[in-house]
Amino acid sequence: MTFTYTALPARVVFGAGSARTRLRDEVDALAATRVFVVAGEAEEALADDLAGPLGALVVDRFSQVRQHVPVVIAEAARARAREVDADLLVSIGGGSTTGTAKAIAMTTGLPILAVPTTYAGSEMTPVWGLTEDGNKTTGTDLRVLPRTVIYDPDLTLTLPGWLTIASGLNAMAHSVEAFWAPGANPVTQALAAEAIAALARGLPRVLADGTDDAGRHDTLYGAWLSGTAFAVAGSGLHHKICHALGGAFDLPHAQTHAVVLPHVLAFNEAAMASAQADTIANALAAAGGSVATAQGATARLFALEASLDSPMALRDVGLAEADLPRAIEIVTTRVAGDKVPTNPRPITAADVSAILTAAWIGARP
Ligand code: NAD
Repeated sequence: MTFTYTALPARVVFGAGSARTRLRDEVDALAATRVFVVAGEAEEALADDLAGPLGALVVDRFSQVRQHVPVVIAEAARARAREVDADLLVSIGGGSTTGTAKAIAMTTGLPILAVPTTYAGSEMTPVWGLTEDGNKTTGTDLRVLPRTVIYDPDLTLTLPGWLTIASGLNAMAHSVEAFWAPGANPVTQALAAEAIAALARGLPRVLADGTDDAGRHDTLYGAWLSGTAFAVAGSGLHHKICHALGGAFDLPHAQTHAVVLPHVLAFNEAAMASAQADTIANALAAAGGSVATAQGATARLFALEASLDSPMALRDVGLAEADLPRAIEIVTTRVAGDKVPTNPRPITAADVSAILTAAWIGARP
């Protein structure tokens, strides 16, 4: 074993009701006196409710949250935070909301207290993303890593079934990839294994009943650990494929992850250390039923996703057949050859074509 592990600092508060009972104390612990709340229009009522105990500490609210954080929105948000002389950003919402707070932090250096309401995991990473003219730029900057994160499973009770599954499988992708991404190490793998098991336990329960408390706890706990593992392991083959597809064809972020993941896992499974593939397979068995009786990591992941009614084909999430050759070409230029050196096996143009064709059809890998 030879590796370097850099732990990323963050204080995490976890528990049902914690966003209501702990937000004020956590804001005080950061010695903040001028709080700038970032919450999208859809999260307005929730933000009113949660920010209530902060009273006059709240100096302004920003609600122009858009997916992938357009540069114009980021600039407007930064200008507003400066105008009101904010000393803390409190983000309440999903990955797009956290991303908006990060865009402010990356130029102002303001600390972030994040209250996530989905399973995206952005709140655990130092990664920011901005879009301009359809091009997404991402980067890493420790200034955008939230100082404190409050995980309250109660806030996820309102997530509709399809978004719960899409967002939960996005977290699953962070964890599976934490076995081979550039910064992967035994610690990211241990966190990811725990996360995969929690997601495999939680997602079937919350699909059956969105108000299942134990299921919501497990899923959010899995999402947290997935974000933590991803933050250290970084993006490998799977994330690079999804990033290229999402950027070029405007595909839905989370669903694209869910479709592509079993195909990348199938490609890598045979080349991984068998103990690692077994770790993923054993963790997935926490779902029970037909998932646990399937043989191997890929078969279990595919069975889990199918049982969750998740889209299984790129053609079902918006990639037209006529665009498939261009998709293969774009992804090939990003990943083939020696572009993803830590992948368990080298990837050729023919491999990219096979992976994307299978993912487009939704074939069982
Ligand atoms: P999102 O933040 O765009 O939210 C999707 C929808 O869900 C929105 O309409 C929102 O209003 C709604 N919503 C959020 N919470 C809800 C709740 N509790 N109940 C009901 N509705 C709710 O989606 P997301 O999947 O959370 O985030 C995706 C974005 O995050 C992408 O832009 C992605 O690139 C980014 N991301 C970044 C990182 C990173 O490390 N920087 C990691 C993961 C994702």
